[in-house]
Amino acid sequence: MFLTVHATAAIVITQGIQNPIIAFIIGFISHYFTDIIPHGDEQMFDKYNEKQKIAVLAVMAMVDFVVLFFWLNFLLWQNKLPNLEINLVAILASTLPDFINGIYLITKAKFLKPMFDFHFWVHFVLQKKPVAVWLGLSCQTLFFAGLIAILFLKF
Ligand SMILES: [Zn+2]
Repeated sequence: MFLTVHATAAIVITQGIQNPIIAFIIGFISHYFTDIIPHGDEQMFDKYNEKQKIAVLAVMAMVDFVVLFFWLNFLLWQNKLPNLEINLVAILASTLPDFINGIYLITKAKFLKPMFDFHFWVHFVLQKKPVAVWLGLSCQTLFFAGLIAILFLKF
């Protein structure tokens, strides 16, 4: 799932939380829960070899990061990040599992493998086999739209 969507989910879920440690924990856990939703990247990279996969992932992560940066600036401008420090802690924590994944893919550090495996496993809690990319991306878009609705319609 895109970092932008993970971060937005974390913002929504941690609304009203004042403690940065709790915001961090909830933000971190939220990553795995949101990755359960089919989101289109489950088999997107199967056609690449390991080196290509890392390169493609790195480019996608960079684009995603730029989008996230502008999205957060927009939310800030719209007054949707009223508790900025807590919001940033939650956002950071919610994107951390993907960075850990990236570090694992590059370094193959053994101590990160359980986290990598768990991260992979949550993707298949709801779906036995990966759904089609278009269907996954549609689910992700709907989920993102729902988060935006909560942010902008409820308050
Ligand atoms: Zn993930």
